[in-house]
Amino acid sequence: MCGNRPHSETKSWNTVSVLNVEKPAFMADDELTMLEASVGRFIAQNATDRDLERWRTNGSVDRELWRAAGAAGLLGASIPVEYGGAGGDFRHEIVLMEQLGLGGVQSFALPLHNAVIAPYLVSYGSEEQKLSWLPKVASGETVLAVAMSEPGAGSDLQAIKTTAQRDGDHYVINGQKTFITNGLHASLVVVACKTDRSAGAKGISLIAVETDKVTGFERGRLLHKLGQEARDTTELFFSDMRVPAENLLGGEEGRGFQQLMEKLPQERLVIAWQAMATIERALGVTIDYVKQRQAFGKRIIDFQNTQFKLAECKTQATIAKVFLYHCTEKLLNGSLDTATASMAKYWISEIGCQIIDECLQLHGGYGYMLEYPIAQMYKDARVHRIYGGANEIMKLLIARSL
Ligand SMILES: Cc1cc2nc3c(=O)[nH]c(=O)nc-3n(C[C@H](O)[C@H](O)[C@H](O)COP(=O)(O)OP(=O)(O)OC[C@H]3O[C@@H](n4cnc5c(N)ncnc54)[C@H](O)[C@@H]3O)c2cc1C
Repeated sequence: MCGNRPHSETKSWNTVSVLNVEKPAFMADDELTMLEASVGRFIAQNATDRDLERWRTNGSVDRELWRAAGAAGLLGASIPVEYGGAGGDFRHEIVLMEQLGLGGVQSFALPLHNAVIAPYLVSYGSEEQKLSWLPKVASGETVLAVAMSEPGAGSDLQAIKTTAQRDGDHYVINGQKTFITNGLHASLVVVACKTDRSAGAKGISLIAVETDKVTGFERGRLLHKLGQEARDTTELFFSDMRVPAENLLGGEEGRGFQQLMEKLPQERLVIAWQAMATIERALGVTIDYVKQRQAFGKRIIDFQNTQFKLAECKTQATIAKVFLYHCTEKLLNGSLDTATASMAKYWISEIGCQIIDECLQLHGGYGYMLEYPIAQMYKDARVHRIYGGANEIMKLLIARSL
């Protein structure tokens, strides 16, 4: 460290929240505390600053990281024990998301694998498929991706053009997907396709594609992104890709849109929890920073503007977390509706970007330097307002409840 350059916190950050929001009773559990500690150990051993930098440069985490996470028992946290998982529930996924977020390891798309895609297999896979697929999902032998978006259809999912035509005991899939997270490493991709082009939403089906077992499957280039650079986001191409008909999820054509609608509220909470963890980390590093950086003979925190800005941010963050616990309780008891989940995703991702922007401002020029974690958070957080349904779509869904 040279001259008066302020302390640059990265991975040494204490993975404890700066908020004083008490955990609700449903989160107070010794098993969750143990999991928290084991995620901390996993991060310390497998995601050093040097690892993070290498992953960003490569545009992808190392494939080995998935196996290490599997060996540490972090994958398949909420997959039932009989299918090789840990038999937990969404609370376990929250611990993972919080610790990865507070620890600055958001670029590892484990929450997508665990809490967004695996649930499709658990809920809609046949018994035989679950026994065959899920143990590998839990061990890291299989990495999961979900492929809905296409170059011509993102928000408007009904407009997808990828088709799956039945031919004997196979589907023949043709089309193209884009922006697919885990696109490089995934060996099981849940693909949204049209099994009936004339039937709108009712013509959409989800088909699980085991990429090692098919021909006509091709991965495109790694896409260069503004942030979350270590997530391997790619295009996928299907040309006369033959997939066994039994890989249709749910056993009946035309159920895909409904299946997506059923699972999207949880996906929205996953994004909200990731945004929340980033907010907490941003506040943590910033409070730390303004307490030691000096200007005009006093600490930055001693300016009333700094105190007011951080007071506003902490208030918003506290309200967000309380609301998120409220939504989580509803998810756990099966009563989380689409509008409420959309509120969490939309509002927490929006205030996340605002808070991180304020925090970056309080770092001055250092906040603009990528070696300072706040700059990376600024880049990483922006996509929370876009993926998992753009926030404008969230508002449409909320408006339907008016
Ligand atoms: C980093 C990253 C990772 C992703 N990972 C995945 C993945 O793993 N799998 C996957 O399937 N997809 C993934 N996506 C795609 C993502 O879900 C879409 O980008 C998103 O749903 C928006 O679709 P679009 O980009 O086609 O935008 P469009 O649908 O073209 O929309 C553009 C903008 O128009 C506005 N808009 C659109 N419709 C309306 C409306 N009805 N009312 C008002 N405004 C509207 C919104 O502001 C919207 O942001 C990822 C995207 C990114 C950037």
